[in-house]
Amino acid sequence: MSLKLDGKKLSLEIEEKLKKDIEANLNSTKRPPGLAVIRIGEDPASGVYVKNKERACSRVGIKSFIFHLKDTVEQNEVEQLINKLNVDSDIDGMLLQLPIPEKFDEQKLISFINPEKDVDGLNEQNIGKLVKNEPAMRSCTPAGIINLLRSQNITIEGKKIVVIGRSLLVGKPLSLMLLNLNGTVTITHSKTINLNKICKEADILIAAAGKPNLIDSSFVKEGAVIIDVGIHRLTSSDMSKTKLCGDVLLEDVIPKVFAYTPVPGGVGPMTVTMLLVNTIFSWQKQFVLSLTLNDLLP
Ligand code: NAD
Repeated sequence: MSLKLDGKKLSLEIEEKLKKDIEANLNSTKRPPGLAVIRIGEDPASGVYVKNKERACSRVGIKSFIFHLKDTVEQNEVEQLINKLNVDSDIDGMLLQLPIPEKFDEQKLISFINPEKDVDGLNEQNIGKLVKNEPAMRSCTPAGIINLLRSQNITIEGKKIVVIGRSLLVGKPLSLMLLNLNGTVTITHSKTINLNKICKEADILIAAAGKPNLIDSSFVKEGAVIIDVGIHRLTSSDMSKTKLCGDVLLEDVIPKVFAYTPVPGGVGPMTVTMLLVNTIFSWQKQFVLSLTLNDLLP
């Protein structure tokens, strides 16, 4: 039987530890860790993600500060807000909820974020340190995937790993983290020729293409590990029901693999948990506490 890599369960276990790590130090720090979330516009999915982050923060004892801006604000006003939060001593972490409306220069805004508070790990300084394999804030979805693999003692070193997708958010940082951990990594994307053949060689196959049910069993080697990053909400033909699915046609793939991540309940919860980890890590550094979360930061 294949092993389910249960991200929900692992994230709850990690949250228990995070809660204790905060409680143990509140007497000396006099304030909890603080996370600022900047949301611009009315994208409904972003609304759900921000709510989830807010709830997760309150579960472990992080104070969240939500800044919901209208899409009529100007780029320089958002930059000013980021600059203010950069020096706010109650804020340990900050993120810009993506996507933001197209009129904004997203990369420029991210580059304004103080790298020490960049809990999404997307600022070029943190990406640069990842390239150099130096400690820094790591992006949440890739770091969550690494922790999920490690939690079941799935070896990365020496494995043939194929990553589908080369985005700045997932595919690229994930590939670098796996490379730093001595995996033999192949990055594929929408222009890759013979995707099926390349995927079939993978010991660990990670799908982050954003295409529902792209990967069926014909892409997968017998006994491989399959990680599904995609999240899609599909509506039934009569529009009466919706269902979440990933990039992987799971029912077809599960009988063939050693281990898999479910959707929902796999990578998603780990992404949120890593955001909490990064925020608390930054708070521990701020107050020169012992750094208890290094093991979770690849
Ligand atoms: P993106 O659109 O920025 O990037 C998709 C990548 O996949 C691109 O590099 C593209 O070249 C590649 N691609 C597209 N079609 C392909 C194909 N047919 N064959 C091979 N490669 C192909 O998306 P993203 O931000 O990287 O997110 C990918 C998916 O992961 C989305 O479904 C997103 O919702 C999901 N996601 C989930 C989480 C989570 O926490 N579970 C976090 C981030 C993103």
